[in-house]
Amino acid sequence: MKLTVIGYWGAYPEAEAATSSYLLEKDGFSCLIDCGSGALSRLQLYKNVMDLDAVILSHYHNDHVADVGVLQYLLLVQNTLHQTERILPIYGHRDDEQQFQSLSHQFTKGISYDPSNPLELGPFQFSFLKTIHPVPCYGMRITDGDQTIVYTADTSYQEEWIPFSQDTDLLITDCNFYESQDGTKAGHMNSREGATIAAKANVQQLLLSHLPHFGEHKQLINEAKAFYSGSVQLAYEGFVWST
Ligand SMILES: [Zn+2]
Ligand SMILES: [Zn+2]
Repeated sequence: MKLTVIGYWGAYPEAEAATSSYLLEKDGFSCLIDCGSGALSRLQLYKNVMDLDAVILSHYHNDHVADVGVLQYLLLVQNTLHQTERILPIYGHRDDEQQFQSLSHQFTKGISYDPSNPLELGPFQFSFLKTIHPVPCYGMRITDGDQTIVYTADTSYQEEWIPFSQDTDLLITDCNFYESQDGTKAGHMNSREGATIAAKANVQQLLLSHLPHFGEHKQLINEAKAFYSGSVQLAYEGFVWST
């Protein structure tokens, strides 16, 4: 399986970049995980959007769903131009009915996932963990039966991340704060908390994402390395992890 970072900023995208969005591919099946601001523009550098098979969303904050509306317009324009009727499924939770209903459009279909049960999507199986965040949000453990990826989405630190992330090959953490800062009230983690999960869960590789708009990001790496001896990297657009 192959994961490509499309957007890695928290809150809003800086110039020529996007907020949370990740492209997951295997055996010709492709799925976009979160669809933040700027994601649709940046995604087109890596993928024909009409070839997407699914979108799955962690929660309905704008830095994770801002481009769903324009994605719906893309489907409308491209289907009309090519006289096709390609429907794109968009998976989201149903804890917020109004937001969930907005996933359905002429050529997109909102499909709810049940966070208490695994979801089979193409060659992937998704399991979910409710995060600690101001709105309902679900982190994801994704496997193709061989390798695993854990994506924390947006969350404060909780012990539950350790069993959920156990022995995963790639852990993508919300790293919206530096070690000296406490992101708990905002519903985010700092560099130390992500690294602590990686160390305690015996994770192979740690990717720090949902990055802040202040400070020097490379400091996040140094901070994380004090708590986790494995490979630590900062997320950047075009970062590829593959097996
Ligand atoms: Zn959020
Ligand atoms: Zn966010």
